[in-house]
Amino acid sequence: MTEIEKLACELIALPSVNPAFLPVNHPDAGEARVADFLAATAAKAGLDIEPQEILPGRSNILARLAPSRAVKRRILLAPHTDTVAAFSPDQFAPRVRGGRIHGRVACDTKGSIASMLGALMILARSQARPAATEIVFAGLIDEENAQAGSRALAASGFKADLAIVGEPTRLRVVTAHKGNLWLRLETRGKAAHGSCPHLGRNAVHEMSRIVDLLETDYARQLRKKRHPLLGCSTVNVGSIHGGGQPNIVPAQCEARLDRRTLPGETWSSVRNELERLLRRHNLRASIHTEKTGACHPMETSAESPLVRIFFQAARQKAPVGAVYFCDASVLAHAGIPSLVFGPGDIAQAHTAEEWVGLAALARSTECLLKFFTSLP
Ligand SMILES: [Zn+2]
Repeated sequence: MTEIEKLACELIALPSVNPAFLPVNHPDAGEARVADFLAATAAKAGLDIEPQEILPGRSNILARLAPSRAVKRRILLAPHTDTVAAFSPDQFAPRVRGGRIHGRVACDTKGSIASMLGALMILARSQARPAATEIVFAGLIDEENAQAGSRALAASGFKADLAIVGEPTRLRVVTAHKGNLWLRLETRGKAAHGSCPHLGRNAVHEMSRIVDLLETDYARQLRKKRHPLLGCSTVNVGSIHGGGQPNIVPAQCEARLDRRTLPGETWSSVRNELERLLRRHNLRASIHTEKTGACHPMETSAESPLVRIFFQAARQKAPVGAVYFCDASVLAHAGIPSLVFGPGDIAQAHTAEEWVGLAALARSTECLLKFFTSLP
């Protein structure tokens, strides 16, 4: 087994489920086990360690490799250390078979953590350490829920010339991803006795017309705007709740939506668009946003010199986009140009049969090393 494969297996065996997805005090909850392991492993390799406690018992782990001469630039390697919950406890036991490591979060993102920290450890002991580039590995907490790790790192004033965010991209260099808005729409009617519906105003009926409009006209309208890497923005009505019992005209109804956004779309532009749509159809609802942190779309120019060097290292010509949201958005909006890159396929992420290919793991490390050793 290679050093990177061993690292990936050790990481899979350490549960680090985001506490948001588990009951309080569940033994699998929290990133602490992985953070401690990363700190110990990086320290042994001679890297400078800096834990950043973000929430009680939940720390980002920063590991730095100083350049051999003065610092001219800083590159950030940023995988997340939290995961979604396991389908069964034996998923935490990694199994190597058929050229793959199977196990919980093998691709989202313990494979990325292994190849990123592994690349840094290889550089630390080699003669090929970059002369003028400081490399910072940051194992970030809470990406799967509220991105507290990347948001705190960005708020601390941390700067870098480029961030490579570890997610399963099938080793493709992703320069853009969609944003994510969670919206709550609320209709208000007037309660009345179920035997006299004409005396009331039915909030569920009004919402059902709005839902129909969103899933037909509005979805069609969104399909007309296309981003070259990301396709169209989308809307999904995820839940609806209204009324209490059959014999009362419901006075209130709410629907919750997931709206994936393209670069240029913001919470206020989406709200204006929805308000115009409802007005046009003579419908009324109040519109609220639900996510606590902003989840903006992300787009990094593929033309900047550092990004071009990364493309060459990955032997990729054209940039690609991703539909999912990740820490790259948070870092990019804090002024750090960001790419997403890592072994594994998002199609397997969060599933019962997650795996990462051994060849992809090796190739990911190789690509990072090629990038760092090609920097001027
Ligand atoms: Zn992820």
